[in-house]
Amino acid sequence: MGNVDYSKYSKLSPFELKDELIALATSRTDRMMLNAGRGNPNFLATVPRRAFFQLGLFSATESEFSFSYMPEGLGGFPRSQGLQSRFEQFILANRDKPGVVFLGKAISYVRDQLGLDADAFLLEMVEGILGCNYPVPDRMLRISEKIIKEYVLREMGVQSMPKEGLDLFAVEGGTAAMAYIFNSLKENKIISNGDRIALGTPIFTPYIEIPKLNDYQLEEVMIQADPELNWQYPESELRKLEDPSIKAFFLVNPSNPPSVKINDEGLAIIADIVKKRPDLIILTDDVYGTFADNFTSLFAICPDNTILVYSFSKYFGATGWRLGVIALTKNNILDQKIAALSTKDKKELAERYSSITTDPASIKLIDRMVADSRNVALNHTAGLSTPQQVQMVLFALFNMMDSRQNYKKAVQSVVRERDAALYRQLGVEVPQDPNSVDYYTLVNLENTARTLYGDDFADWIMKNKNPTELLFRIADETGVVLLPGSGFGVQHPSARASLANLNEYQYAAIGMSLSNLAAEAYEEYKKEGKKKK
Ligand SMILES: *Cc1c(COP(=O)(O)O)cnc(C)c1O
Repeated sequence: MGNVDYSKYSKLSPFELKDELIALATSRTDRMMLNAGRGNPNFLATVPRRAFFQLGLFSATESEFSFSYMPEGLGGFPRSQGLQSRFEQFILANRDKPGVVFLGKAISYVRDQLGLDADAFLLEMVEGILGCNYPVPDRMLRISEKIIKEYVLREMGVQSMPKEGLDLFAVEGGTAAMAYIFNSLKENKIISNGDRIALGTPIFTPYIEIPKLNDYQLEEVMIQADPELNWQYPESELRKLEDPSIKAFFLVNPSNPPSVKINDEGLAIIADIVKKRPDLIILTDDVYGTFADNFTSLFAICPDNTILVYSFSKYFGATGWRLGVIALTKNNILDQKIAALSTKDKKELAERYSSITTDPASIKLIDRMVADSRNVALNHTAGLSTPQQVQMVLFALFNMMDSRQNYKKAVQSVVRERDAALYRQLGVEVPQDPNSVDYYTLVNLENTARTLYGDDFADWIMKNKNPTELLFRIADETGVVLLPGSGFGVQHPSARASLANLNEYQYAAIGMSLSNLAAEAYEEYKKEGKKKK
């Protein structure tokens, strides 16, 4: 095919591959690059952002009520006296503005539905959005934590857990959560160099790469999801977790890239394994959980074993905001592991955290994460910026107050229609799976070749064409960037497309490019066949 030699690309790492693919796709000025390699959504929730900006204007005015004898531009801390009634006036005066209407309803929801102190909530929001104090408590603002707990418990399918049994740490997105967790697990000797950890694959590349870093040197055991089972983990793979030498199981659920949630059978098997292995640590990254209907996180199945990571980046289209949380139960096994460390290790850790309290042994892991996030010594300035926490709360309330789930249905249908457009143009059936959230799709190259032109052609393609080279050729000739599934630990040749990042017609164009390429390869295959005869 073509005259360009694409074989040099097959040895690159996933991130180098991505850069090279983009370079090729942008190498021609006469066409647009279609980068379906990015997980960044191109949709976003507007109403909670409007609410944020309106609240900001109200709060700036509140600040100017203090120190109002001073020159313009200098304000003081907002005052709590009369705040509620001034806010009500603001709502009344701006009834025509959707962000303000939302704020009015949010106050009522927090008071009437969640049973929280509305005055204290409003003050926390007004002070928070002005960002005029260090975040206190550093782990998370008080009422904000209560609201986000409610949101996380609902969305992760954990309604039954009492909110008092849970702690949250508000962080700068899911990736910060991962960095803080890995670091604190190591600092607190819960995971040490050379330990074995299991990874649910295919998985977001950093999860494969971080454990291998020099800092961690962990041995990875792959728990492979099976494409023949619509990307569920086969029982035999999950049962590997019964091996007591495996310390922890890291997974993304719903997965990235297959984009499916673990089904009820899988959840039941994991529950059974944890019964046999009460010491198994689970780290679940559930950033895509909010895209599913009736999602059940492993945090709901084995809460005390599980560190939950949730990010607001994808669902609210808020990657630039950097918003996420880490959740742990108060009874978690990690704190028990710290309590069971050797005297020598405990002494070392007591020293590490001695600047924070006179009783360092009593510090919970989640608070150690907060301290570790600022190298312990700078703990007094730890925490997520308060305006970020305010936006996080407004996002969560927006979702909770939407009783018909109109926003969820809208984002679900956006990605599903893109999925359908791609496969329709490609000429193969749109994959249907009730457990799929369709944020990404993996195009199986062999099966596609088989469906389009038969078994013999599919065998020929597998023998004669390198799948990574195919992706380079697509980038070069059409400007379409798809990432090889292999970078995420996918076993068979596949192309991974994010369904969140482009518009529907562009997904149709991607389907068309793939279909053209297959047609061309088929011509080549037929010619070779004739030569042989
Ligand atoms: C996109 C993504 C995230 C989000 O990370 P942020 O830092 O919150 O933007 C986390 N985990 C996975 C698996 C993702 O795909």
